[in-house]
Amino acid sequence: APVALKRALISVSDKTGLIGFASALAARGVQILSTGGSAKALRDAGLAVTDVAEVTGFPEMMDGRVKTLHPAVHGGLLALRDNADHLAAMQDHGIQAIDLLVVNLYPFEETVAKGADYDTCIENIDIGGPAMIRAAAKNHGFVTVVVDVQDYDAVLAELDAHDGTTLPFRQRQAQIAYARTAAYDAAVSTWMAEAIGEGSPRRRAFAGTLAQGLRYGENPHQQAAFYVTGDSRPGVATARQWQGKELSYNNINDTDAAFELVAEFDPAQGPACAIIKHANPCGVAQGASPLEAYKRAFDCDRTSAFGGIIALNQPLDGATAEEIVKIFTEVVIAPDADDDAKRIFAAKKNLRLLTTGGLPDPRAGGLTFRQVAGGFLAQGRDNGHVARADLRIVTERQPSDAELADLLFAWTVAKHVKSNAIVYARDLATVGIGAGQMSRVDSTRIGRRKSEDMAQAMGLDQPLTVGSAVASDAFFPFADGIEALAEAGARAVIQPGGSMRDDEVIAAANRLGLAMVLTGQRHFRH
Ligand code: 5GP
Repeated sequence: APVALKRALISVSDKTGLIGFASALAARGVQILSTGGSAKALRDAGLAVTDVAEVTGFPEMMDGRVKTLHPAVHGGLLALRDNADHLAAMQDHGIQAIDLLVVNLYPFEETVAKGADYDTCIENIDIGGPAMIRAAAKNHGFVTVVVDVQDYDAVLAELDAHDGTTLPFRQRQAQIAYARTAAYDAAVSTWMAEAIGEGSPRRRAFAGTLAQGLRYGENPHQQAAFYVTGDSRPGVATARQWQGKELSYNNINDTDAAFELVAEFDPAQGPACAIIKHANPCGVAQGASPLEAYKRAFDCDRTSAFGGIIALNQPLDGATAEEIVKIFTEVVIAPDADDDAKRIFAAKKNLRLLTTGGLPDPRAGGLTFRQVAGGFLAQGRDNGHVARADLRIVTERQPSDAELADLLFAWTVAKHVKSNAIVYARDLATVGIGAGQMSRVDSTRIGRRKSEDMAQAMGLDQPLTVGSAVASDAFFPFADGIEALAEAGARAVIQPGGSMRDDEVIAAANRLGLAMVLTGQRHFRH
């Protein structure tokens, strides 16, 4: 039979919807116990409330660290109502049953997201709340637990339908409750790892909080949801969306790839733009203005850019917005956007505009995950970086200053291209990208062919790969990759080195008149 709700304990930090819900409970004859701030809010609204302090016989103390941690509360939540011993204990100690627990926790995640200092974050770790939630959820045979303001209406609907709560309802609420306390402690652990500089993925708890249910996943027959970790890193999870319909699963994934890539380019060094399709860049460029950066990125592969995702490392301005709306684009993400840009985009209902307020630090630590059957892999973010001073020139031909700049540019882009990655660049713009091939030679050929197609479309005499600088995300296992690059007209190559046949690869570069530099670091991305 459904369990009637006679006594509720309400202790909430987020007081959204509290009065309406508590009034509806009171109207159904539910007696209400509550903690300091919650009790005050209820009383101010004219509701009858018993203070928890009255139940425990202790005042709330130690800045609220100890409020509800008392047998009178936990006995009331945990006692089995069909167990004679438990009932006797309640009788002996004057403990009254609590049938409904309504708790939402100290806003730990929000406090971290606001960038609060260490002590403030610590003070926002809720202790009594999770203890009560776990107790009530354990005793779901008798007790209903609510941890989310979004569930208030469901409780009232349940009461109206059954004059109490049914076991399946209480089970579902208990399951949600444990998801919440698990995510909460994971957020604490994740924040602490950051705060104390613990970079190892070992002994870390992982969880996020649900930000949004998604219409579907990678494909329409897959369910999906977006979880956030509370990390304040500027990006798709923390961005403000100005217009356009809800982001899809693929949009979120691609927007992340676009913004993480463009954030590699320090805005102090000038505007940069990345255009992404299916998590791979189809054009990346720096330029004198955001408009020029966009146009140059677009010119790498105009065909693929259709329906793409565009990221800028500087605020979006009207001139760039005007150019972007000439073709169909899914999402534009930038640190900011001016009024002109917003006005121009407003006419394009389907285009989403996201602003982040800043760029993520590409050198920052943190973890990335990949699921495998039966588990998932965690690793540190690929925050590797090479500077000019790290490069080892291994060929007779030395790269020029301009070539070195293009090599480092191409190398930075290659870090964000699925392996095997080959990136041809000229004058700080990609001119051919080969991504995601099982053989490196194939990636060199695809990048070249794309450049040839663009040369034809733009009426150029020859593809821009002629005279280009090229990056390879990992070493060349054989000389054939170098030969393919030379055939494409490349003049300089950057790669990690470290192959068994480095000698052959370097000899081929010398024979073909290429300059080659080694980074000693690779950027696989699968
Ligand atoms: P109020 O605004 O009602 O004063 O406080 C509500 C908050 O206190 C809720 O977020 C609840 O989880 C938390 N809370 C309840 N009991 C305790 C306790 O004994 N210790 C701590 N640290 N927090 C508690």
